[in-house]
Amino acid sequence: MRIFLIQKSGVRPIELLTAVRILLTGNTASVEAAGLGETIFRRRWKQNLNQTEGDKMKLDSLKKLYLEELRDLYSAETQLVKALPKMVKGASSAELKQAFGNHLEQTEEHVERLNEIFGRLDEKPTGKTCKAMKGLIEEGSEMLEEEGEESVIDAGLIGAAQRVEHYEIASYGTVRTFANLLGEQDAAELLQQTLDEEGETDKELSELAEGIVNNEALTEDGEQKEVATTGSRRR
Ligand code: FE
Ligand code: FE
Repeated sequence: MRIFLIQKSGVRPIELLTAVRILLTGNTASVEAAGLGETIFRRRWKQNLNQTEGDKMKLDSLKKLYLEELRDLYSAETQLVKALPKMVKGASSAELKQAFGNHLEQTEEHVERLNEIFGRLDEKPTGKTCKAMKGLIEEGSEMLEEEGEESVIDAGLIGAAQRVEHYEIASYGTVRTFANLLGEQDAAELLQQTLDEEGETDKELSELAEGIVNNEALTEDGEQKEVATTGSRRR
């Protein structure tokens, strides 16, 4: 480990030991005694720090930010393509299964549209992970693991899916605006199409939540139980 650290930082063992001694004792005599070693250590450490910072892309133009945001969306959509089949499987209501299934097909188109935009720009869509979508999908997965009334679980899945839609709506709104500002008219239209579809899906999910979930899920254990027509989740 020590050898690895030394190789990576380019600092000689004697310089490293001196620097550690300064940190431990904190007294000026040590600092003075450390002399050149300390200076070299500081300089190299700073150099290494700058190298790390330099690896990151500099966002010095709107075009670069636009590409970064598009890559984030590409990551979000491809993660969703993998997650939606689990949502279809986990939903109990036939209508909800259908809605998730339809959105899976749409999501594949969303990926295609992004591919088209990247193709025209002669850029790669990969290289970024949308951490927000990762978290939102994780929350959806937690709901899939829950046990309980089917309609209640469905309500939870709808909530998780709507949070995904709202994230996408915000992101597509942003990149569509960037595309307009950059004069990328074709891309702006493609992004608007996806934005509209995400909005429609969100609306459809709201209607589903009101139509198929509430009457059943509102009833609790007790006298109203016979009103509920759903069964318990089998495990
Ligand atoms: Fe989408
Ligand atoms: Fe993201």
